[in-house]
Amino acid sequence: MNLILLGPPGAGKGTQAKRLEDKFKIVQLSTGDMLRAAVASGSELGKKAKAIMDVGDLVPDDLVVAMISERIEQPDCANGFVLDGFPRTVAQAEALDAMLAHKGLSIEYVIQLAVNEAILLERIRTRIAETPVSERRADDNEETLKNRLEVYHAQTAPILPYYRDKGALKSVDGMASIDEVSAQLGAILSG
Ligand code: AMP
Repeated sequence: MNLILLGPPGAGKGTQAKRLEDKFKIVQLSTGDMLRAAVASGSELGKKAKAIMDVGDLVPDDLVVAMISERIEQPDCANGFVLDGFPRTVAQAEALDAMLAHKGLSIEYVIQLAVNEAILLERIRTRIAETPVSERRADDNEETLKNRLEVYHAQTAPILPYYRDKGALKSVDGMASIDEVSAQLGAILSG
């Protein structure tokens, strides 16, 4: 089973993707996590990505598409994967479709975590304030957060109609409790 979780930063995609890993024995593929690992390792990709991530802009499409394409080939993805943070532009969504078709794979579910952004922003602000500076992500600060939300609206939200037009988009209430969101996702994926 292959699926995509969509939603703005802080909507809970990562938390839910981890739960789906356990429940459905599939692999969470988070481009944000992969890029942070690349930055930490000091690789060429990491060097290119760091400054972009620090300000909350998007890493070039070709780099993330290549990263996902390689990752999907790994044996642990054979039972399925949940994409978290990818695709983030219509160009990435189109590249994903072409890449999967080439590999004889497809996406079965595209699920949006629908959120109230004003409430979400307050939640993220609280989380940042409660996290010791040493444990914060480099992009967890007010200015970067604001830019990440702007980038989400300008570049990522247009992929919602892309999938809606294909009849592939489902939505769950991302403002519900973590357990409730998991239950809603489970109902869609088991049904
Ligand atoms: P995330 O952990 O998903 O919030 O991602 C953290 C940062 O990594 C983002 O703000 C972007 O700079 C970069 N990033 C993650 N995924 C992508 C993607 N699919 N396309 C471009 N940049 C990405």
